[in-house]
Amino acid sequence: MDGFDQAVKLFKEAKYAICLTGAGISTESGIPDFRSNRGYYTNFIPEDALSVGVMESDPKRFYSEGYTILKDLEGKEPNPGHRALAALQEEGFLHEIVTQNIDDLHQRGGAKNVLQVHGDASTARCERCDFHTDFATFDKQVEASIIPPKCPKCGHTMRTNVVLFGDAMPPAFDEAVKAAEKADLMLVVGSSLQVMPVAYLPRLAEHLIIVNQGSTPYDHQADVIFKGSAADVLVELEKRLNE
Ligand code: NAD
Repeated sequence: MDGFDQAVKLFKEAKYAICLTGAGISTESGIPDFRSNRGYYTNFIPEDALSVGVMESDPKRFYSEGYTILKDLEGKEPNPGHRALAALQEEGFLHEIVTQNIDDLHQRGGAKNVLQVHGDASTARCERCDFHTDFATFDKQVEASIIPPKCPKCGHTMRTNVVLFGDAMPPAFDEAVKAAEKADLMLVVGSSLQVMPVAYLPRLAEHLIIVNQGSTPYDHQADVIFKGSAADVLVELEKRLNE
């Protein structure tokens, strides 16, 4: 039995399967991850540069450093891995897709039930009056050196809807915990599983399939591990499940 046969068996036997994704599913769309050798860690420390503390105490640094991650998402498109996961959902093999990604590529690739536990880079909000705007409108102010950007309604500081280091987790995380508690199978794709509290979720599922080019702290307890391209593995898995 190869890894795909084992994975197909686990999916066919599962009562409730969910997926957890990280930055690695979007590298094949041209978006760097954090921790592989082409990731953002080679330029700066994301935990610092993308923190609430730096955004509030040194906004000029925030908008010239961590903010580049948000800018890098512009113009990126879903890849076959995002589309294969959407197909698995559509075919009834997968329920929630819990994602740490802020790039919206799951939804744009056709996925429906997506829990964005680290927020969403495509929108920004005013913390005082809750006025919301899209990233392009928000970014016009940053490009015009209005730092930090101001709310057009009340004049207070606006900020991204991404969950920064030091922020509270959003309600989507509570939903992700409930989904993980219900799940007897979790497919983890492209996450180093080092960012807490999300890295706690795989503990809750009975069976684990991991797709990752590198290693994770959960490798020893996974039922199946695919060490390869997320897109290649997911496309093949979706094909095999339908044979
Ligand atoms: P991470 O960088 O810590 O880990 C990514 C993992 O994916 C690595 O282990 C790497 O080996 C693997 N990987 C990279 N490309 C792959 C591929 N093509 N196929 C299979 N595996 C691949 O990322 P993380 O665990 O998601 O945690 C980092 C945090 O960074 C998250 O909170 C996320 O919000 C944020 N982030 C998001 C994006 C995005 O939205 N696309 C991009 C960068 C960082």
